[in-house]
Amino acid sequence: MFRNLEETIKSLNANVNDVVNSEKAKKLRKKLLSIGLPMAVCGFLGVFICFALFATAGIDLDAFGPNGFTARVMVPFLLFIPCGVVGGIGSTIASLGFKIVITEYTTNLIKETVGNNCPNCGATLNSEKVFCSKCGTKVRKECSKCKHINDYKSEFCEKCGTKLN
Ligand SMILES: [Zn+2]
Ligand SMILES: [Zn+2]
Repeated sequence: MFRNLEETIKSLNANVNDVVNSEKAKKLRKKLLSIGLPMAVCGFLGVFICFALFATAGIDLDAFGPNGFTARVMVPFLLFIPCGVVGGIGSTIASLGFKIVITEYTTNLIKETVGNNCPNCGATLNSEKVFCSKCGTKVRKECSKCKHINDYKSEFCEKCGTKLN
């Protein structure tokens, strides 16, 4: 049962890894970050500036003219909310982009660590070894034609395309 679970996680991870490293995901990540980051930065910077202007205007009593509120108080007050909205939307978009970055990083990390272990005993494997040095399980498939060492799940040689057995 646990073996199955391990295999499922591995294959699932392999799929996530493929998806996250695909060109489509990379383009999406680039798009999300290039739109989201400037929006978030501008929005929050705007919020900060508005707040600072509003706060300093509030202290200075001259800002309250004979008509009540002056532009010095009203402009930052009115810009405060749209800036916050832009910053909020921007950070949401950017966080989606960062999720792809994090997923990419972790799946690659898992692939490097889990993917490089014997499926039978879990021993760390040398990428050039065909058999596990701990339990003797065949962990790689050597191509009969070009001698390239392939993953044990591979059906065909990733270098020359010869059917593996
Ligand atoms: Zn082993
Ligand atoms: Zn080959």
